[in-house]
Amino acid sequence: MQWIVNAAKLVVGIVLVLMVIVLFNTWRLPVLPDADDAKAGIKAPPIADLDIAAKRLSAAIQIPTISYGFANPPGGNRFPELHKLIEASFPLVHKNLKRETVADWSLLYTWDGSDKSLEPVLLTAHQDVVPIEPGTEQKWTHPPFSGAIADGFIWGRGTMDNKQQVMATLEGVERLLAEGYKPKRTIILAFGHDEEIGGALGAYAIVNLLTTRKVHAQFSLDEGQAILDGVVPGASRPIAQIGLSEKGFMSLQLKAVAPGGHSSMPPPHTAVGKLGHAIAQLEANQMPASLNGPGGDALRGMAPALPFVNRMVMANTWLFGPLLIKQLSGAPSTNAMIRTTTAPTIINGGIKENVLPSEATATVNFRMAPGDSIATVKAHVERVIADPDVSITEGGSHPPTDATTPADMNNPGFKLISQAIHSIEPGALVTPGLVMAGTDSKHYTHVSGATFHFCPMRFNAEDLKRPHATDERISIANYGEIISFYVTLIRTSSM
Ligand SMILES: [Zn+2]
Repeated sequence: MQWIVNAAKLVVGIVLVLMVIVLFNTWRLPVLPDADDAKAGIKAPPIADLDIAAKRLSAAIQIPTISYGFANPPGGNRFPELHKLIEASFPLVHKNLKRETVADWSLLYTWDGSDKSLEPVLLTAHQDVVPIEPGTEQKWTHPPFSGAIADGFIWGRGTMDNKQQVMATLEGVERLLAEGYKPKRTIILAFGHDEEIGGALGAYAIVNLLTTRKVHAQFSLDEGQAILDGVVPGASRPIAQIGLSEKGFMSLQLKAVAPGGHSSMPPPHTAVGKLGHAIAQLEANQMPASLNGPGGDALRGMAPALPFVNRMVMANTWLFGPLLIKQLSGAPSTNAMIRTTTAPTIINGGIKENVLPSEATATVNFRMAPGDSIATVKAHVERVIADPDVSITEGGSHPPTDATTPADMNNPGFKLISQAIHSIEPGALVTPGLVMAGTDSKHYTHVSGATFHFCPMRFNAEDLKRPHATDERISIANYGEIISFYVTLIRTSSM
């Protein structure tokens, strides 16, 4: 009997030790640098004439600079109009900064700092927008290119992605110039014109130009993340994610072959069947998930704003990791944070119900998490499909790109951006983040010490559905905060 008592004591002892470790880890869960930044106490400057700034953004929205795709080049005939509007809107910018057009329609501004030994800061955004999905025009509360100002909002395509960031950056510089501010560190503004189709013309050419001039930025800031308010279940504070990396992009084409012929005498596996099996295998065998990297950092970073149980799980991934991964994998938004995603998007095969197609094809789109690469994903796909009758080749509209190398949180840019966030929202919890979609920054990594992604738009769960979709809009008050954020960031990063 004694051994049973001893075993029971041992089990109780182990459980107690585990509980102590779990609680200790929860208690000392690292709080991100925002605690310090709040103490920096930088106040957002009041934005004078915000209604006029809103009208300027509205005017920019009314010029549809649409990127349709490679076969149909960017809406170039409209860029000169947008440039004229920008020139008329920001006279001091155009008097004091060097302005260059690159690759016809991209804009590059240089605001020379007094100390040329300092690396410049690079602020980027894009002028082009995505088209309106045919048939959805009528669903907009205000027409998509009306730039309507109503109910406290500016409405239209580009108010969230990404003319608000172009115009707010310029508003920030114009206001600093108006008060006679002179930067010590050079500020460079770069606004591409084809981001929505990959930036292969605009951002790419800007990077080449900066490279030939041997310009290397201390850090850069681009679109890609926002302030989430009421998005993360249970969060007690708004969460401001600063993106450290953007995921990679690759489309693979699968082609299954089989003998054609009459459908009355089919072989056991047709081309359609083989293709279907290959796709099902890919869905059943996802790329492995990981809590390391910016996706996991983002989740851990949110923990201080979450209820105790969530904090405890996040603080003890050594114990709860597998459970947590299972949970996160269940929802598309969190699944995308922790792994390379697999999305079959196009399928083709067959022309007639009684004819066996001799081939069937499918496109599968992958978004690579940092840590995976074009090569590791291809190897995974080949291993999982393992069918000599199914070939795998690169396809799709873009050449594949790997995820960008995560920016170092110790780069001064992270803290400066964090302080500027707290200047407009002292209660925000600042966390690192991972950008799910592609941006122009994949090009800028070559000329920047760290590429960060952030714009202080306040997103609730509904707002997440607006960019690239119906009823894109930004509140005038929030637009004022974005301008204010840029005034602070430009000042603190250049003094
Ligand atoms: Zn964008």
